[in-house]
Amino acid sequence: MSDHLFYQTRQTRPFIERAEGIYLWDAAGQRYLDGASGAMVSNVGHSHPHVLARMSAQMQSATFAYRLHFQSDIVEQFAARLAKKAPKGLDKVFFVSGGSEAVETAIKLARQATLARGEPERFKIMSRLPSYHGSTLGAVAVTGTPPFAEPFAPMMQAMPKVRAPLHYLDGLDPEDPGTAAHYLKEIEEAILAESPESLLAFLVEPVGGASTGALVPPKGYMEGLRALCDKYGLLLIYDEVMTGGGRTGTYFAADQYDAVPDMIISAKGLGGGYMPLGAVISRNDLVDDVLDHGGFLHGFTNAAMPLAAAAGMGVLDVVEEEQLCDRATRIGGVLFDRLRDLQSAYPFIGDVRGKGLLLAFELMADGQSKQVLPKELNAHVKLVNIAYENGLIIYSRRTRNGTEGDHFMICPPLITTAAQTDE
Ligand code: PLP
Repeated sequence: MSDHLFYQTRQTRPFIERAEGIYLWDAAGQRYLDGASGAMVSNVGHSHPHVLARMSAQMQSATFAYRLHFQSDIVEQFAARLAKKAPKGLDKVFFVSGGSEAVETAIKLARQATLARGEPERFKIMSRLPSYHGSTLGAVAVTGTPPFAEPFAPMMQAMPKVRAPLHYLDGLDPEDPGTAAHYLKEIEEAILAESPESLLAFLVEPVGGASTGALVPPKGYMEGLRALCDKYGLLLIYDEVMTGGGRTGTYFAADQYDAVPDMIISAKGLGGGYMPLGAVISRNDLVDDVLDHGGFLHGFTNAAMPLAAAAGMGVLDVVEEEQLCDRATRIGGVLFDRLRDLQSAYPFIGDVRGKGLLLAFELMADGQSKQVLPKELNAHVKLVNIAYENGLIIYSRRTRNGTEGDHFMICPPLITTAAQTDE
């Protein structure tokens, strides 16, 4: 217990002793299976010897060199490798220390690129309800989780939101082309209602994270969204903070759609829990336009730190050498089937969904009628605590439309074996 530190609440947790692979041990010797990779962070597991060796080698040369004073080989190499992972035409990388900073970076880059192109009236970022894009004020403004924004509303410019394609709740078939068309029509109406020339960008998680509980968009949705952005002159930004780094079965979830974004935001699994790390990977011409018009008015002291780049390189090596994207698909398939078995056995598991090892199940009073559990029951906290007491870490949210729904993220590290999924 600490007298000085504080986080969200007064709740305390055991002290960590050590972590290795997919497990963590507390100071009392209790072992925990990391079924949520922390918060969908530890993609290559804990204490991976290759990542530690990469970091250790970097520590012998330079941990930090301020980016306005020095360039660094490791940072350059890492940027080049990430650009290769991103879709063609997205080659410019801006490093930061996490997801919220990356979201801020993308928003500001989009705005400055649009100013450079002579469209100063465009400033609004459209995003979805529900969604989560971070904790800094700019990120909160584009986050579709009303309780997180309400206290700060007077301090922010409200940004337009449009309903996420919650096809499961709406009783629509995600494979039916009419389903995507239904949600895309809502988006087009929202764009027209906002006056399209005031809109700068559409920000979207290509597979939903904790706010929607691993929502996979209906077939054709992302492609339709790209077409709408082109039609009305919006940039399309993928928030891959949670989906990036191989979690959904490809290095970026963007690879699974025939819809190339203008920017990709990455964090969490990028540093894999070895160093705080995030990045924005942008279309080249957007960056060139900004640099040609006075430069990017943005930057963080710890951005592009050589030690963080070494950690990111180590994590990327492991993702490639251990073929963790394929493994996410394979092991994710095993876990998905197990969760579906539970759903068949228990009527209170209302839905099982996700891609790769970004999986979720939904707890309901009744899955058939899609009746949600009473809020007072606090099921999303209770079940997590029961799992925790039994040595399993999972991650939950009750934020659908800001008011209802309990879902649980099942997202172990991508190194998880089939035998460990039994456990
Ligand atoms: N975007 C998404 C999709 C996220 O899931 C998160 C964090 O959960 C963020 C942004 C914010 O990232 P960070 O907590 O690293 O600031």
